[in-house]
Amino acid sequence: MIELVVIIPVYNEEKAIQKNFSIIYQTLLKDQISCHFMIVDDGSSDQTWSKICEIINKYNHVSALRFARNFGKEIALCAGIDHIQAKRYLLMDSDLQHPPQYVKNMITLMNQTKVNIVHGVKKKRGKEKLAYTFIAKSFYKLLQLTTGLHLDNSSDFKLIDAQVANSIRQFKERNLFFRGIIDWVGFESATYHFEVKERRNGSSRFSTIKLIQLAFNSIISYTHKPLYLTIIGGVIFFFISIILGIQTLVRYFLGHSLNGFSTIILLLLFIGSMIMFSLGIIGIYISRIYDEVKQRPRYIISKKIKRL
Ligand code: UDP
Ligand code: MG
Repeated sequence: MIELVVIIPVYNEEKAIQKNFSIIYQTLLKDQISCHFMIVDDGSSDQTWSKICEIINKYNHVSALRFARNFGKEIALCAGIDHIQAKRYLLMDSDLQHPPQYVKNMITLMNQTKVNIVHGVKKKRGKEKLAYTFIAKSFYKLLQLTTGLHLDNSSDFKLIDAQVANSIRQFKERNLFFRGIIDWVGFESATYHFEVKERRNGSSRFSTIKLIQLAFNSIISYTHKPLYLTIIGGVIFFFISIILGIQTLVRYFLGHSLNGFSTIILLLLFIGSMIMFSLGIIGIYISRIYDEVKQRPRYIISKKIKRL
């Protein structure tokens, strides 16, 4: 059985992957960590795959998968876990923002504390675009509000053991939020605080739109709590209407004439938008149900190279 598999998702990293991989490889070698590498090419549209093939020819203990198209980093991590059996799995970005020199400490921490999961937590956020930080921060706030998950400064830099990997393999959902499910499965965990490095080469592979989508998807796929918003909205409106009704009655009996044309229009508009809003939330969940019942595969692999 392999002791440790390092799973690295990559997407359009042709310029950096070879250099970054050699740094990761050399660092782990220097720290005497014996491991196998699983590189998952998330359907890159550039020359990343041929670079990965060169890596496989050059280094030992490297396997790789290639997706037929871009399925997203989360699914790439799952595919990596699905395709290889090991005692432990380390999940790591390819851009060196998850510094390989900390892997040793994470392993030591796992050995000492005997936990199943070691979460890498960022000491403080690395240098990012302002929009990125803003979206990330608001996303975590919203997530905390809707799900109670405290994921601020969390990352996908994680060390998990075979038990956790096995439970992750049992998830069949197509829209999956990796950090959410790792939290959801439970088990004993410890946190390791690390310094985020600046991204080597290029900018984040997540555009602002993709990030908003991811944030949205994550909440929807993790929890059905937004559905309760519609009920809460309904209850609030019910009470407002009762209060308004009483007020109208009182004014009527006091002999005031009723003139509320603009109020009625405003109320109509307001209630209309609330109904649309609620329908929208319900609609999103219905579309998710549709996605899941179709039972499409989570990912499609076009190439696979296994060098154990
Ligand atoms: N990545 C991926 N699929 C995607 C986007 C990104 O596999 O659709 C990979 C990317 O190549 C990198 C890692 O996920 O190895 C983290 O991506 P990035 O650095 O762009 O994200 P950030 O650090 O900004 O969260
Ligand atoms: Mg990065």
